[in-house]
Amino acid sequence: MEMESFSSLTVTERDQILVEQQVFNIFKTFYNIPPSSQSFMLELQRENHVEYLTNGLKQLGPSFCVLDANRPWICYWILHSIALMDEFVDPELEDNTIDFLSRCQDPNGGYGGGPGQMPHLATTMLQSIHLEKLYSFIRQMKYASGGFRMHDAGEIDVRACYTAISVASLLNILDDELVQNVGNYILSCQTYEGGISGEPGSEAHGGYTFCGLATMILINEVKRLDLSSLIDWVVFRQGVEGGFQGRTNKLVDGCYSFWQGGIFALLKRLNSTRGEKSIPLGDGEDSGPDSSETTASSDATGKGLIEDLSQGGSHIEKGDQHDTSSRVNSKRHAKVKPLFNSLALQQYILLCSQDLNGGLRDKPGKSRDHYHTCYCLSGLSVCQRSWLEDDDSPPLPCAVLGPYSNLLEPIHPLYNVVLDRYREAHEFFTGS
Ligand SMILES: [Zn+2]
Repeated sequence: MEMESFSSLTVTERDQILVEQQVFNIFKTFYNIPPSSQSFMLELQRENHVEYLTNGLKQLGPSFCVLDANRPWICYWILHSIALMDEFVDPELEDNTIDFLSRCQDPNGGYGGGPGQMPHLATTMLQSIHLEKLYSFIRQMKYASGGFRMHDAGEIDVRACYTAISVASLLNILDDELVQNVGNYILSCQTYEGGISGEPGSEAHGGYTFCGLATMILINEVKRLDLSSLIDWVVFRQGVEGGFQGRTNKLVDGCYSFWQGGIFALLKRLNSTRGEKSIPLGDGEDSGPDSSETTASSDATGKGLIEDLSQGGSHIEKGDQHDTSSRVNSKRHAKVKPLFNSLALQQYILLCSQDLNGGLRDKPGKSRDHYHTCYCLSGLSVCQRSWLEDDDSPPLPCAVLGPYSNLLEPIHPLYNVVLDRYREAHEFFTGS
């Protein structure tokens, strides 16, 4: 583009062009190198990521958590990322972390840094939670409007609703009183664009749309949302770079791989005819398939799926496709076709968000951090299973971009917790 016309653009337009150039340069390099180097570029650098994450956990140190409200969140981002890669932290470090988090529990039942970190912890940690105190803490944060505050004098918003409802649901203490009017509040935040904003009157946003949709599912009121306009909004948030933007006309950002990608995982389950068998969508009560919603397209044949996949990813090695597994699984895969370009998103995460020295980031030129590492990896896990109707079976190799060793653990999309950990917690709190 000529400099003159470039200078007549708005800041937003200029930033967008610069990001596209950076991203497309990476893609150009990628498509011009030999296949062996391509597969290295697409490889998830597990060892480096684990090292980066483990070092982050060590640095939490013995100081008081009340000094930094983000610290419990950092624990979650790190521990969840490690769990996604099916790795473990050494027992001493795990003990230290549990000890650190126990000290964050307020005598009144809440946790410093927000209660959201709790569902993500080891069973040892769960045993120390005082459920009655926690319930009354959550109850105190609730307002007549149906909204919740994050903490005393904190803001009332959709994120706080999600935190309160998801924690209560996971801990099996969700009741009518907590749920009352929450649906009205979320509904008042769905905007003319179709997405959900943080508060009534604000702009639709990926993080709040995920939180709002998940909350509505958890309280069994999802049908009240205008789902078709919500789908319209979210499908247009995937950019030419392959990644997602959080809001209209904003730049692509790796963390929305989960916030927006997770919305697709939730929508997929709403349309699923069998997903509810393995993972309850509601609060554990009957929340069977929703017959009034649109049903997943059933015209896509297994063959069509493979063609779709190979069109989207010309660099998938033929040798990776195992004929028997695709035949066995074709029925399971045939029904579900993701509403977003899953391979393009995987390509953005692996080539643009991944720091080869460990950790993941927002976009090229930004530095890695634990938050982006967590939500890029969570989004990657969602992508890899976006063709599957039920997360208990492994995805086809052609659905996983790069070597099959990139495959991450499945998550429960309502809580963003690794599925096995969710089941442990669910068993623990329901006693079943
Ligand atoms: Zn981000």
